[in-house]
Amino acid sequence: MIDMLPTGATIGILGGGQLGRMLAVAAARLGLRTHVFDPAANPPAGDVAHATTTAPYEDETALRTFGATVDVITFEFENIPTAALDVLETCAPVRPGRNALRVSQDRLTEKAFLADLGLRTAPFAAVDDEVDLAEAAAEIGLPAILKTRRFGYDGKGQARIMAAEDADQAFADMAGAPAILEGFVDFSHEVSVIGARSAAGDVACYDPGENEHAGGILRTTTVPARLTGAQRTDAVLVAAQILNKLDYIGVMGVELFVTDAGLLVNEIAPRVHNSGHWTQQGCSVDQFEQHIRAVAGWPLGDGTRYADVAMENLIGEDVYRLPDLAAESGASIHLYGKSEVRAGRKMGHVNRVTGGTRST
Ligand code: AMP
Repeated sequence: MIDMLPTGATIGILGGGQLGRMLAVAAARLGLRTHVFDPAANPPAGDVAHATTTAPYEDETALRTFGATVDVITFEFENIPTAALDVLETCAPVRPGRNALRVSQDRLTEKAFLADLGLRTAPFAAVDDEVDLAEAAAEIGLPAILKTRRFGYDGKGQARIMAAEDADQAFADMAGAPAILEGFVDFSHEVSVIGARSAAGDVACYDPGENEHAGGILRTTTVPARLTGAQRTDAVLVAAQILNKLDYIGVMGVELFVTDAGLLVNEIAPRVHNSGHWTQQGCSVDQFEQHIRAVAGWPLGDGTRYADVAMENLIGEDVYRLPDLAAESGASIHLYGKSEVRAGRKMGHVNRVTGGTRST
């Protein structure tokens, strides 16, 4: 029997960006408190959390003080330093656990994990030096993409190698960081599944969303995605397999490439995911509540999709469209409370219900 956190219990959230903010709002709706830990002052989540700690992840005293105030710890990003986890795990359960972080922090470990599960990915090889790169390119073929193994997001830390003469520049772009070469996948479109697993081991997945990127950053997610019934089932089963193998507790994003030969897994994110924001207007229980339910030891909620939704990210100067958006009927606006507008910065998003009530 799993204990359900009661009203007034506190969930610690590592990272106070927009994902932490929306998790804190969802927790508050369930009568739970949140304590946000972020190295930066005045994080977006700080506006809505019960408490905020501003300290670096290397500050063991601050981690312990934070850990003493919370009943469970979760996170909004995957690059938590291992040493911080060592400390926090002695204070309260960390959900999802260390294994999910270990697998998703390193693209090579992640690909090897997925291949072990029998799931399909782009062909890949480790690249530590120029000799590895030449061998990997010969084995995998070109075009290919060289990516840093760690700390890549929104297309950062990636270089395309279209022809052999691009290899030197791509290697230089990695700035000495261990890398992975991936064969270029000829996909028709990209989809993602937001899946959840409870502490009791139940799994629920949202309907897959179709994602469009520009400059490596997610622009839109649309549901329903263009998928056959068989592909939709396959996508959900892939996510469930990953969740179960990791003994996962919480919400996870699984990005997939749709190809003529079926679905390939691009990457997994052990957290709520930008491509799941549509659930706020498309489901009774959105991804943020689902994650809070899971880490708080509650049963999962009903994630059935009851509407067609288009989610549009507001990136950088897009946020200046606010007067028009605010006047647009049917636009559900979510702003993250970030005062400084910067190019490429996610400032908010808009969900638009585009189609009638229906379930899948
Ligand atoms: P990632 O950071 O791995 O999610 O990559 C960012 C984006 O680059 C993806 O959403 C794809 O659009 C593209 N991309 C990444 N890996 C590949 C690949 N192996 N083949 C083709 N496109 C890719």
